[in-house]
Amino acid sequence: MIKGDTDVKPEIDNDLGLYLPKSTLKVEPIIDDTTLRDGVQMPGVAVSPKNTAHIAHLLDSIGVERIELHHYQRQDKKAIKLIQDMSLNARIAGWCRALKSDIDDALKSDFSEVGISHPVSHIHFKTKWQEKTEDELLERVVDTVEYASRDHGLGVFVHGEDSTRADWKFERMFINAVADAGAEVYRICDTVGVGLSSSNAPLPNGIPTKIRRIKKETKIRGIEIHAHDDLGNAVENTLSAIKAASGLFQRIYISTTFLGIGERAGNAETEKVIMNLYLHYGVKKLESTLGKLKETADFIKYATGVTIPQNKAIVGDYAFAHESGIHTHGVLKNPASYEPFPPELVGNTRRLTIGKQSGKAGIGYKIKLILGRTVDRCQLDTVVQKVREIYEDGRKASLREEEFRKILQDVGLT
Ligand SMILES: [Zn+2]
Repeated sequence: MIKGDTDVKPEIDNDLGLYLPKSTLKVEPIIDDTTLRDGVQMPGVAVSPKNTAHIAHLLDSIGVERIELHHYQRQDKKAIKLIQDMSLNARIAGWCRALKSDIDDALKSDFSEVGISHPVSHIHFKTKWQEKTEDELLERVVDTVEYASRDHGLGVFVHGEDSTRADWKFERMFINAVADAGAEVYRICDTVGVGLSSSNAPLPNGIPTKIRRIKKETKIRGIEIHAHDDLGNAVENTLSAIKAASGLFQRIYISTTFLGIGERAGNAETEKVIMNLYLHYGVKKLESTLGKLKETADFIKYATGVTIPQNKAIVGDYAFAHESGIHTHGVLKNPASYEPFPPELVGNTRRLTIGKQSGKAGIGYKIKLILGRTVDRCQLDTVVQKVREIYEDGRKASLREEEFRKILQDVGLT
């Protein structure tokens, strides 16, 4: 909530079905949120165990089906215990490097699933293990996967780090080797956000092509997408993976972070992917929990200290704010004219703000909201003039509620 703003209730309900034709997915999308692993790796972010547990609770309540967690530090272990005690519907998974000691650590925290991360691109091999051959690297991963799945009965996802810059011949061998070793799912990691969403973009960074080639040329049963946002394409790339997996895989895991928080430019936003799945593909299982998206955003903002831009899609305070004359006029007649869906759907609020762009319709409506009556044309003109004068002096921000009330008082309306 923005202090001093007046919430505006819709006068005409939007009919989403009327305006948006839906496509059908022949794959089950499963949100595998990594806010509490990749998200909290964002510089300057540290979340307490108690708040970590509450974020996990909120993620569970918005339909996240798998939550990825760190488990190395004492604070991480404390948070895991709190989360396990909540008996969430969501599965929880520990993030590991391809090291048996990491698997041992995950076992100590009673995880039944782990994600094992290992690079698949030669850029990473050269940077990290110049002296090792491809075979030696493969052996390292295979040994760890077997140790986790065969020796300890853990469910195993393997994350192909930097998949979008990998040599396909090696990546294919890697996927088949980990599948043979017991991995259930292969995660395509677009680690530096260079993936492309178009259906015919070639390997290594054409994401739909990679999904099709994985299905055709490897034995892995499950697939996952993890897209970073360095070029602003993370959500689109995530959706392109889902579309490509449709009809090929039974389910696709979608690794995202709430608000897109994460390393550098962050990840695909959980809330954006959820809304796209709901609006464009009619994914019903997410419908009943959409109303908690704004609450989840606000708590994550509080717990992490991350600033949410006011115009952040879906969950920003001004994601449904209207100020210009044309927009305000349209929204007052029919909110659907300038909104894709009603803010209440995601727990957000419609706001009519008064500022530089405000016209008579918006200002008149605001006066009516405050006074409970309409004013005559001359009085309205006086208020409009007063507002204009404030902005002629170089003011940028919208007026706070109390400032607008003061104008009404100054012109003798209250
Ligand atoms: Zn990542």
